Amino acid sequence: MARLAIATHNAHKVDEIWAILAPSLSGLTREDVASAKELGAPSPVEDGTTFAENALIKAHALAAATGLPAIADDSGIGVDIMGGAPGIFSALWSGAHGQDQENLELLLAQMADIPDQHRGAEFVCAAVLVMPDGREQVCRSILRGELLRAPAGEGGFGYDPIFRAQGESVSNAELTAERKNQISHRGKAFRALAPHVAEALRA
Ligand code: IMP
Repeated sequence: MARLAIATHNAHKVDEIWAILAPSLSGLTREDVASAKELGAPSPVEDGTTFAENALIKAHALAAATGLPAIADDSGIGVDIMGGAPGIFSALWSGAHGQDQENLELLLAQMADIPDQHRGAEFVCAAVLVMPDGREQVCRSILRGELLRAPAGEGGFGYDPIFRAQGESVSNAELTAERKNQISHRGKAFRALAPHVAEALRA
């Protein structure tokens, strides 16, 4: 029987979040954790206006549906000179949800005339925990960097091929999964959330 629910229907994301959280959650095994998909829970409409609001909508819906502590995240990329866009619209920037290649190409085209010194950007992640009684914890983290001019690398997902993190010499898509988890917005947000998850599971 699962003890912790993860509000995503994306198997890749469950593995990534588990890899980040597991070192902080001794005693918990992968079998203790189940995704919304595995639990048969529906996806709510994400109509919040911030990453944290959208993550909380997902986690509240899942905690209510399952009676389990639920974790969720919402994330995206914000470009400084575009006023933080695509922001919460990152996954559907080119229209339909999750068209990574089209999203990345549109953003590169929009930024084509912008010189190197004004290409600052950041990935943002809000990681949240919601208890079945409605109590909530929110941890928000960012990864600063800059937009490249052409995609590089095969790893990662989404905008990773066109983003180079501060202090790194290659794109996010050229980092190992371990290195990306060490520095990423998602890695930092879930590591900050981990003690709260551990406490929730002890209760
Ligand atoms: P979410 O799955 O609703 O949080 O949507 C996140 C969207 O933001 C994805 O579709 C990606 O386009 C983008 N994104 C978030 N985190 C990352 C990352 O670590 N690398 C690349 N793209 C990301």
